[in-house]
Amino acid sequence: MMTNFNNINTRGIDKDEAMDIALKSEKTRDFKSSIDDVVIGLSSGTSGNRGMFLASDDEKARWAGIILAKMLPTSILKKQKIALFLRANSNLYESLNSKKIKFQFFDLIKPIDELKLELQDYNPSILVAPPSLLRMLAKKQLDNEINLTPTKIISAAEVLDPIDEKYIGEVFNQKVHQIYQCTEGFLGHTCDHGTIHLNEDFLYIEKKFLDDEKLKFFPIITDLERKTQPIVRYELNDILTLKKDACPCGSHNTAIEQIEGRADDIFYFRNDQNVLVPIFPDFIRRRVITSSDSIKEYKVVQESPEKMTAFIQSDEEISDLIHSSFVEFCESKGFKVPEIFFETYEYTQSLNKMKRIESLYKSDA
Ligand SMILES: [Zn+2]
Repeated sequence: MMTNFNNINTRGIDKDEAMDIALKSEKTRDFKSSIDDVVIGLSSGTSGNRGMFLASDDEKARWAGIILAKMLPTSILKKQKIALFLRANSNLYESLNSKKIKFQFFDLIKPIDELKLELQDYNPSILVAPPSLLRMLAKKQLDNEINLTPTKIISAAEVLDPIDEKYIGEVFNQKVHQIYQCTEGFLGHTCDHGTIHLNEDFLYIEKKFLDDEKLKFFPIITDLERKTQPIVRYELNDILTLKKDACPCGSHNTAIEQIEGRADDIFYFRNDQNVLVPIFPDFIRRRVITSSDSIKEYKVVQESPEKMTAFIQSDEEISDLIHSSFVEFCESKGFKVPEIFFETYEYTQSLNKMKRIESLYKSDA
């Protein structure tokens, strides 16, 4: 997509020029980058590997209509104050502003103690933010530093870990909804039952299955709406898990059990023949969060097939429990048990996406 950017977009926009404009606006944090009526956005990928998206005025309007239709808890005629926490603003989002719908962008680059005051002032009815930020806000709410009264909370931009979903949901006493959106488009969202459905009313999504059970897959998306930058059979490296049972909401759109993370975060263990075997992030996640009820926060990093580090925050000492959970898992599958190091989990606010399961090891497999 990025290599052939100039040929793929239908407005004759030059990649280098567009990238230049987008990077400048990110640096100055004045997010008004466009060429004529075409807005330019950047994905949050690592530099050198960043995606760029283009949308015309018409596409922006459609997108705004679709996202409001799908995400507003009530009629469009009811007043809503939406707070949107993002790494970078985009005039895409500002196109959502109207008399009834107030929209405010909160810059994730600002420290949380500054953000919390701005947010309290605004007191949104709908709060959209990455789960790492929602979790920090939930903590502030619990400590009575803020008193927010949102009627809908939507997690976006990062994997929503069950441990965070539970914490945020309990503090704000409501279901945490999810938007599945990336550079390539608005791909899915939760229904009233909390199930993520893919937006197959305007996307054609093929599944590239990753397991024998045919539950995990990479989505291959074709967007039936976008023309400025057509998205045709574009394979994403997000690992999605199909929901086995039908969702009670009755939607025919594919129901997703969970968005697990990126293919980059697949772990590798060695089997008894010394062959590297990929382990999906969810297997790692389950091992950790089911080890003990006293676990509060965690992150697991794989440095190599022989070494991983678990960062844990917990009321009790649970490293032995986690260690034996992995030993049990490896022995049942015939894997060599990697060395597991334990450290205390500490979260530092950052513009990087928070990942609870992260692989630093890049396999050639
Ligand atoms: Zn549903």
